[in-house]
Amino acid sequence: MTRLADLPLREDLRGQTPYGAPQLPHAVQLNVNENPHPPSAALVADLAQRCADAAATLHRYPDREAGELRARLAGYLGHGLTAEQVWAANGSNEVLQQILLAFGGPGRSALGFEPSYAMHRLISLGTSTRWIAARRAPDFTLSAHAAVAAVVEHRPDVVFLTSPNNPTGGALDPEVVTAVAEVAPGMVVVDEAYAEFGDSPTALTVLPGRPRLVVTRTMSKAFAMAGARVGYLAADASVVDALRLVRLPYHLSALTQAAALTALDHVGELLGSVADVVAQRQRLERGIAELGLSTVPTAANFLLFGPFADPAATWQALLDGGVLVRDVSAGVGLAGWLRVCAGTAAECELFLHVLRATLGQGTGR
Ligand SMILES: *Cc1c(COP(=O)(O)O)cnc(C)c1O
Repeated sequence: MTRLADLPLREDLRGQTPYGAPQLPHAVQLNVNENPHPPSAALVADLAQRCADAAATLHRYPDREAGELRARLAGYLGHGLTAEQVWAANGSNEVLQQILLAFGGPGRSALGFEPSYAMHRLISLGTSTRWIAARRAPDFTLSAHAAVAAVVEHRPDVVFLTSPNNPTGGALDPEVVTAVAEVAPGMVVVDEAYAEFGDSPTALTVLPGRPRLVVTRTMSKAFAMAGARVGYLAADASVVDALRLVRLPYHLSALTQAAALTALDHVGELLGSVADVVAQRQRLERGIAELGLSTVPTAANFLLFGPFADPAATWQALLDGGVLVRDVSAGVGLAGWLRVCAGTAAECELFLHVLRATLGQGTGR
């Protein structure tokens, strides 16, 4: 049998581990920060109709520029944005990859403040962009002073700021974004995947006059459309021109565009579930505190909880009880912590029940 090591793989990919959050459909899945509310029957019916319409012309390539979708996304974002300043791709991960293909690459570097979203590092690796791991404070906050110091020291070609941050949950003070944009020699990407879960400030307000600033968003979280794979960005129109150089032709399929447009038709319904998700997250915060554990302040639909002496054992005990959470404890600065996202009321109830039982057995503490 051929092993990976036998292949003429790029040297810099040897020994690396792929992204691999477990997918265990039989457990209550609170491990990848999805919105637990499925689409309504009305949305499903509209999507079926839009897909049927798109299917009638599937012998043709889709709109390469996704013009209608980008105009609708610009309208959704507001802040005076136009279609020329918006770009969409297959998940915000593909948007991030396109940014690194255009602005990173061999001989260039990207910097992030860890602990943060692991894909920033992995996509940098995949595009042969050198990764620079700067650090958040021990309480997971990031001050403008610390952020500026790291950017001035390393002069990266791309800086990643994540607000609210995954997996720690806190949002950034907008001052951090503007201070970093002031000193960064290259692109500054603000990953706002969880923006719709709170009233935390958005970097969209500081885009005007900053052509090297990019704000990325996704339909995978609050929008409850993770399966559709739609992410997007807002930036100066010239940034969109740059991404056209590296994107694959017709990267966004006609069916994906149909799904995204349907989601925007139902934006009220989709974002209507956010209040419930936030209420459930608050319930998790209270319930976990009642068990004598700590949580980290969060503006997203998930939270860190712990600390655990043996987080892997607690993770397994929770899974044995039917609940899948995320073991982030191997991440830099995250020893002892697990991450859980808000599910439905029943799912959160089960989680708290199993956690209580787990602690009662002394697992992991
Ligand atoms: C979940 C997440 C994304 C979303 O990725 P998609 O490719 O849009 O599903 C992006 N950034 C962060 C920080 C995330 O947690």
